[in-house]
Amino acid sequence: MALLAKLIYLRMVWGMVPVNRFQIFLRGLTVCCPNCGGRQIFRTWFRLHYRCPHCSLKLTRTEGFYLGAMVWNYGLTVFGCFPVLIALYLAGAYSSTILGVLCVAVGVLLPPLIYPWAWSLWLMSYYLALPHELPANAADDGSVDEDE
Ligand SMILES: [Zn+2]
Repeated sequence: MALLAKLIYLRMVWGMVPVNRFQIFLRGLTVCCPNCGGRQIFRTWFRLHYRCPHCSLKLTRTEGFYLGAMVWNYGLTVFGCFPVLIALYLAGAYSSTILGVLCVAVGVLLPPLIYPWAWSLWLMSYYLALPHELPANAADDGSVDEDE
């Protein structure tokens, strides 16, 4: 009963309920706000809102916070795509010249294409590690259920 009252209070006062790690994970994969699940966390393709337009979660926390998104972007490009290209080359799918052209093309074109997703994955990573920093979990006494 106390939990139900707490959920009703959170819904009425803050318009949000506690978020578990599985929800944070899904919201990260679908480029949604980790706190409320709102879909418009980007102003443009390359411009993240400073705060979520739905719940006011501060999306760019401090100077240098964007480095995590850069790591995701670089990691997905280098460790996600280049091994596939190299494996196809080793399997004889194309010549070394084509491999070079494909690597340059993927290295140049892929990072801007996956930029919003890299940001979302970074926010997901951050809040998966620190779910109690989400405003929706703030009133949860830091004891967020980790197994849902
Ligand atoms: Zn939000």
